[in-house]
Amino acid sequence: MAAPIRILLVEDDQEDAEYLTALLARADGVQFEIERTDRLSAALTAAPRTRPDVVLLDLTLPDAQGLKTVRRARLGFGSVPFLVLTGIHDETLGVEAVQEGAQDYLVKDKLETGLIVRAILYAIERRRASDEAATLRQREALQREFVANVSHELRTPLTAIKASLESLRRGGLSDPQARERFIDAIERQTEHLARLVEELLAVATLESEGLRANPKALELGTVIRQILDDFASKAAAAKVSLSAEGGFDSLKVWADPDHLAEILHNLTENAIKYNKPGGNVRISAQESDGVVEVTVSDTGAGIAEDEIPLLFTPFHRTRYATAKNISGTGLGLSITKRAVERNGGRLWFESDPGEGSHFHFTIPKAP
Ligand code: ADP
Repeated sequence: MAAPIRILLVEDDQEDAEYLTALLARADGVQFEIERTDRLSAALTAAPRTRPDVVLLDLTLPDAQGLKTVRRARLGFGSVPFLVLTGIHDETLGVEAVQEGAQDYLVKDKLETGLIVRAILYAIERRRASDEAATLRQREALQREFVANVSHELRTPLTAIKASLESLRRGGLSDPQARERFIDAIERQTEHLARLVEELLAVATLESEGLRANPKALELGTVIRQILDDFASKAAAAKVSLSAEGGFDSLKVWADPDHLAEILHNLTENAIKYNKPGGNVRISAQESDGVVEVTVSDTGAGIAEDEIPLLFTPFHRTRYATAKNISGTGLGLSITKRAVERNGGRLWFESDPGEGSHFHFTIPKAP
C-alpha cells in the first residue's frame, strides 16, 4: 500500500473532528495519518515542522473566522494545499474560500467517505501539477535570461576585437606603440572569449540531463597536492602563499575526478585572484557527519553583504572585481555549485568584507 496521506486537521469541535476521522478510517485503499489542532495559529506553527500533505481547515475557529482564516492560511501554509470545511448554510463561503486560495470546500453536513477522499486526492494532485508548472516556468525564464546574458557577454569582447582590428587597419600598423597596444588588446579579448566559450561548455555539459557524474573512489590528498602544484606559480606571481593543512591524507572521497578537479581549481583560482599581495590561501579538509568537508580559505577582498545572495548567479561579478578590473567571466562559481551538487554535495561560503572568505563544500566519503 502507498504511504499514508498526512492530514493536518484544524477543527475545534471535538464531535466534528471525530466524525471526520471515522469517515476517513473507512476509506478503501488509502490510509490517512491525522494530526489535529484546534487553533489556526497552532496549525500555522505545526505545518512547517510536520509537513502535512494537505490541511483540512474549519472556518469557525476560536482564533480565526470566515475568509480571514483563508487569507491567513494561504500565506501561512505556503505550498501545502488546504481544503475548507463549511456548514450547510454557508456554501457561498466555501466558493469564496476557493476564490481566495483554498483548493476546495467540503460541506460538513454532507460529508461522505468517497467524496472527502476524492477531494483530498484531487487537491494534492492539483497542487503538485501547479507547483511543477511554476518550476518549469521559472526554469524557462532563467534559461531565457541566460541566453540573453550569453549573447551580451560574447558580443562585448568581439566588439572590442573588431574595434582594435579596425584601428590597426586605419594606420595603427605603422605606429609601433599603437600596434603593440592593439595587439595586446586583441590577445586579451581573445583569451577572455576562449575562457567564456570553455566555461559555457562546462555549463552546458553539467546542465544536460544525460551526463551524470561518474564517481570513483579518490584519494583527496592526491587531488589537493595536484592543485597546489598547478597553482604554485600563479600564487607566487600574486605574492600569495598557498598551502594545505595536513590531516586529509587518509580521506577518500566518492566523486567524479574531472568535477572534483574543476571545483578545487575554481575555488583556488578565485582565492588567489581576489586576494592581496602578502595574503594566504589555505585548503583544508575534514570528515564530518559521514561526509568530507573541504574548505578553501583566503585573506582577500571578501564579499559585501548585499552581493552575497547573487554570488552563484551566472555572470555576476562583484563591484570589487569589476572596479579592480580582475579578469573573469562570472561563471566559475555557478559551474562549481552545479558540479558539487551533481556529486551529491553542497557548496556554501562565509565572508568577512576586507578580511577574506571561506568556501566550503561537502563530498560523499568513498565506501
Ligand atoms: P569569475 O570568473 O568572475 O571569477 P566566479 O563565478 O568564479 O567568476 O565568481 C563570481 C564573482 O564572485 C567574482 O567575479 C568575484 O567578484 C566574486 N568572488 C568569487 N570568489 C571570491 C573570493 N574568494 N573572494 C572574493 N570575491 C570572490
